[in-house]
Amino acid sequence: MTGHLLELKGITQKYGRGERRFTAVENVNLAIDEGEFVALIGPSGCGKSTLLRIVTGLNQPVEGQVLYRGELLDGVNPHATIVFQTFALFPWLTVQQNVEVALKARGMPPNLRTVRSIDLLDMVGLDGFETAFPRELSGGMRQKVGFARAMAVEPELLCLDEAFSALDVLSAESLRGELLELWTGGAIPTKAILMVTHNIEEAVLMADRVVVMDKQPGRVIADQKIPLAHPRQRKSPEFLDVLDRVYALLAGQTQPEHIELGTAPGEAGRTRALPDISVGELAGLLEFLDETPNDRIDVYRLEQELNLGATEVLQLTEAAELLGFATIAKGDITLTPLGETFAEARILARKEIFATRIRRLPMFRWVLAMLDAADKAQLDRDVLRLALELEFSPEDAARQVDLAIDWGRYAELLAYDDNTETLYRETAETVAG
Ligand code: ADP
Repeated sequence: MTGHLLELKGITQKYGRGERRFTAVENVNLAIDEGEFVALIGPSGCGKSTLLRIVTGLNQPVEGQVLYRGELLDGVNPHATIVFQTFALFPWLTVQQNVEVALKARGMPPNLRTVRSIDLLDMVGLDGFETAFPRELSGGMRQKVGFARAMAVEPELLCLDEAFSALDVLSAESLRGELLELWTGGAIPTKAILMVTHNIEEAVLMADRVVVMDKQPGRVIADQKIPLAHPRQRKSPEFLDVLDRVYALLAGQTQPEHIELGTAPGEAGRTRALPDISVGELAGLLEFLDETPNDRIDVYRLEQELNLGATEVLQLTEAAELLGFATIAKGDITLTPLGETFAEARILARKEIFATRIRRLPMFRWVLAMLDAADKAQLDRDVLRLALELEFSPEDAARQVDLAIDWGRYAELLAYDDNTETLYRETAETVAG
């Protein structure tokens, strides 16, 4: 016995044949214990889904072993269930019948199935929808039926593959809440959860441990405990602090923050200016790097490739490095896993990543602190500009304010009224410590 519920030992998976054979994941070691909720994050293509399929026994690795309760897994793992991004419900069956199918497959007699399926639907908040057909439900409710069906199997190991990513924001949030309640309240027989997600905040919100992967080849690069009790508050300083640490893992940052980021206006030392670039230009660079082989290129080639001047390239690469989206070494610029995640993310996820990263910058710490201290949490643009003129030339001070407004608006950390030239705090955002 190893003592672990699940253990992956030296897992390597390859796809393709001959010339085109490539390594999707290489030498992955990972153990999950009873009671753990583990999230697996990393850029697309790093092998997260591959690992889930191996864990559940849907695929066999070319090398390595999967141990379940200390025993070598042979074939499909009967104790594991995967919840996918979208659930294939049977459209001709009612909500209740869709759940009963899973109970029937477990050999449960008909009279018990009815009672149990009603219980399960109640548990995911679908009380009253038993006789509805899938087409009558919203996407969020359909996914809830999917969860009820997964629960019907009473899996010891529940695997989630981007289970919330196809839902609208509100449905996703409510379903996350339902699952967490069931899990933390011990209302389900599930012993461990392994969740694959693109959404870093979701990982920190739900999991006890976040395992970070990178690609080419897919491998584990970090394993971080999330030392926060449930329920977690997304805006609390403790939550944001852990979130920052997970982002830093993806960004491959090892330097202490104060060395990397410099100082804020009013603090001792030279104020770290925001690089003079737009979010669109930065996104363009990251998308470009994401398309290059090995996500890397000589910095000098960027001028030609992106059709930019030398100064612009300098500002652009500085911004990418400052935000942890790329590293620069020996004349090469290389995308970090965080940069890859941003390049491949959709708009909302991009905004979240961007917000988390810029909130740490000295200039934003200062702007947000000024706003929080201001009457009604609003400030004239000129207040900031004049304060910055103590440290920058008038042109540079004005430019810094413009950049802070542009970046802050994109990140939805602040709002700006062009007519009155006033900055506001975005509504839901509270003091971030
Ligand atoms: P992720 O879930 O992190 O996006 P995947 O596990 O889906 O990563 O994929 C890892 C790599 O393996 C990718 O490059 C993907 O294109 C490749 N891959 C995944 N499944 C197959 C398959 N059945 N055949 C060939 N290549 C595959």
